[in-house]
Amino acid sequence: MGTTNGVHHTNGGAKQPLRIAIVGGGIGGLALALGLTNRQREGANITFQIFEAAPQFKEIGAGVGVGPNAFQAINLLGLSEPYSKLAFTHDEDESGIYFIWRWGEKDRVEQNGGDDVIGTTPCFSKGGHTTVHRAEFLDMMIERIPEGVANFDKRLVSYETTPEGSKDVPVRLHFADGTSYDADVLVAADGIKSVVRPTMLAGQVRAQDLKPRFTRTVCYRTLVPMEEMVAKIGEKARKGTMYLGKDHHILTFPIQSGKTMNVVAFISDRTPTSKPVEWPSESWIVEGSREEMMTGWENWSDDCQQILQAIKQPNKWALHELADFPTHAVVNVCLMGDSAAATLPHQGQGAAQAIESAYTLSSLLASPLLDSSNAHEALQVYNELRHARTTGVKTTSNELGCVLEFADGQINGDKDGLVKNLQSRYEWMWGWNGEAEVAKGLALLEKRLS
Ligand code: FAD
Repeated sequence: MGTTNGVHHTNGGAKQPLRIAIVGGGIGGLALALGLTNRQREGANITFQIFEAAPQFKEIGAGVGVGPNAFQAINLLGLSEPYSKLAFTHDEDESGIYFIWRWGEKDRVEQNGGDDVIGTTPCFSKGGHTTVHRAEFLDMMIERIPEGVANFDKRLVSYETTPEGSKDVPVRLHFADGTSYDADVLVAADGIKSVVRPTMLAGQVRAQDLKPRFTRTVCYRTLVPMEEMVAKIGEKARKGTMYLGKDHHILTFPIQSGKTMNVVAFISDRTPTSKPVEWPSESWIVEGSREEMMTGWENWSDDCQQILQAIKQPNKWALHELADFPTHAVVNVCLMGDSAAATLPHQGQGAAQAIESAYTLSSLLASPLLDSSNAHEALQVYNELRHARTTGVKTTSNELGCVLEFADGQINGDKDGLVKNLQSRYEWMWGWNGEAEVAKGLALLEKRLS
């Protein structure tokens, strides 16, 4: 592929396959590609291409939480066997506990008689509480991407659409290398800095709201050999844990069969300001200093100090999120994953939502009722099914960040309030039913097209 692939046409009455362009080959784009591959194997009349700006697919070396909902989507995408080989499964622990929350600050531990435990998150009855190394997870998906669909060094710079139902090319994509590609559907899986979003939502959303918003929370991340951390803080290192405190918190969980501990330390700036604070650098990951990283943790427990000491390279990650958008689909173009509803990571749901959406969208696009003239109907159904859920996850993740850092204005670090809140907030996220969502979507699509 190097030039425009030509205008869509019918061939002696035979229905042409629906051409789907996926822009972005991160977790979301690859999950969608695998969903579409499954549907092709089942006989769906679709073709797809992935356009990735980078010279190869890549992910960072860090952990990612994959809760029961995303675990279910992974199973529905047919990946349960390879995924299970990579994932650390928390449910296997007989305690029935998924996560433990502990006080991070020393005076809170003392007030609690020296016990730092605040409470626990029990495992959801359906199970599937897993965590995985991100790059290993991506590699597992890459291995299953069919030949001839991945296009690298293809940075989308713009696209144009024709009106609904037009016989012309529904979507034309333009790349930085001067080439273009014609498709019936464009799925923007191009992440939080999406190039597609400003064009798709132009006129519907104020220009300043289309850009990612700096949340004034930064984090520092590392991976540490588990045995090293067990030697320092004891067996408790092996369990997924959040250490909570004022404007700071630390998340740790095991990955790689429990051999590695993933560490993320969060610091939020909540000093009042009269106008939004912009992140000053183009890059959202900048080199930080140890002094800066350690500021504000002086009163934190010895265990927390040990965990923070393990962060040898204090790179600072600026966390951004998106505004609520009125829609995630316009004509033959839709947003998926972080491009649609990038969220703070506190509920471990960003990638999870991308994978759920990938399963649902691939199932809708495989409908035999679709062709280039009505494919926009599938995207409207996708929006109907996914918009409220992904936007809701974003809102509740933001709220949780405040709860974890005693800044929510109601609980403010009260133990009973924390336990009640933290034990009740996950069921709706984890209880997602992918098959039911798709069945509902296909029925809605049929109704729209009848
Ligand atoms: P991305 O991973 O950003 O992929 C976008 C892809 O598009 C990239 O490959 C990029 O190169 C490509 N691209 C961009 N622009 C273009 C263009 N113009 N043309 C072509 N290609 C382009 N989620 C969880 O579910 N659980 C967790 O525990 C969790 N922890 C997190 C911790 C932190 C600190 C952070 C920051 C996030 C966390 N997340 C977590 C969120 C998760 O990382 C993201 O939601 C997820 O990676 C989004 O996937 P995506 O495919 O939508 O976007």
